Amino acid sequence: MRAFTRDSLPGRVVFGAGVARSALGREVSALGGARVLVITTPRGEPLARELAAPLGVAGVFTGVREHVPAAVAAAAVEAAADADLLLCVGGGSSVGTAKAVALERRLPIVAVPTTYAGSEMTPVWGRTEDGEKRTGRSPHVLPRTVVYDPSLTVGLPAAITAASGMNALAHAVEAHYAPGVDPVTMIVAREAVRALAAGLPLAVDEEDREEALFGAYLAGAAFAVTGSGLHHTICHILGGAYDLPHAPTHAVLLPYVTAHVEASAPEALAGVGDALGATHAATGLRALAERLAAPTALRDIGMRAEDLDDAARRVRERTGAELRELLGKAFEGTWEDL
Ligand code: NAD
Repeated sequence: MRAFTRDSLPGRVVFGAGVARSALGREVSALGGARVLVITTPRGEPLARELAAPLGVAGVFTGVREHVPAAVAAAAVEAAADADLLLCVGGGSSVGTAKAVALERRLPIVAVPTTYAGSEMTPVWGRTEDGEKRTGRSPHVLPRTVVYDPSLTVGLPAAITAASGMNALAHAVEAHYAPGVDPVTMIVAREAVRALAAGLPLAVDEEDREEALFGAYLAGAAFAVTGSGLHHTICHILGGAYDLPHAPTHAVLLPYVTAHVEASAPEALAGVGDALGATHAATGLRALAERLAAPTALRDIGMRAEDLDDAARRVRERTGAELRELLGKAFEGTWEDL
């Protein structure tokens, strides 16, 4: 018997090489945007200004920082005083800053993602204050239109491509066992794994960017419906407590946490291994991480050995899971295939 509940999220997606330059004007005017606040990083500013040139621009905010510090959110909200639409161009940090503004000012967001973070598909916002990241869900922060243009991701450095790609895979894999999973989202998540597994090696080698971005879109869309599970909880604990970088933390932990989930609930991840061309999901993920030269050890991304016991305690308190041994292996990067 089939029985499920599914919330479909609204939102428009325009996908294709070159669409950012050809379709952005039409998409912004369809939402009534006449005074656009552009939100980006200093690195993304030239591209963002070029894309926004045909639009009515009220201002350009380039104060974006990772994990949306409260002071940055406040400054961006202030910068949006006269705006009627937010255009974010960049990775998850730029999207996150736009979301912080939308939460306060209820302005529509048009997102042009340039990494595989997937935040543009979710109604999840985050803000960091006093070293702690708070997150929440609100329909007001879900971008109204997302313009995915693979040509804008050409040149994304291989290291960022690999880590961000593993972050996208984390969304797709986690969507298979997160609490809100349903059969339709499962189809999207499975296709996301397939597209990312096929597309990320091509993207890292700079041969083709389209499949990887398509997979990242599907992964974000699936994760937006299911919500997060054990893997994200652990990544958030570690990222927040020890200031580890977001995407590399996902890249390291994904095979280990997946192996843990696979050991206790193999049926939840049945099919992920197939989509990765491996006998087990975790084995396939580790092989892909190595193929992409993504980080595979917490010690290489800023974690300190003396924090491992504290990390295991935090994880136990939040999840009930005893994962000291898992964290030790992930710290060293040691791996035994299942
Ligand atoms: P990011 O936006 O900080 O970008 C990572 C790096 O890539 C930065 O150094 C940036 O300058 C660079 N970069 C981006 N686009 C580039 C391009 N085209 N060429 C060259 N360099 C480029 O990080 P991210 O990994 O994209 O996103 C991480 C953030 O997003 C975290 O704060 C995370 O919590 C958040 N996030 C939120 C959700 C959600 O649903 N709310 C989902 C995923 C991630």
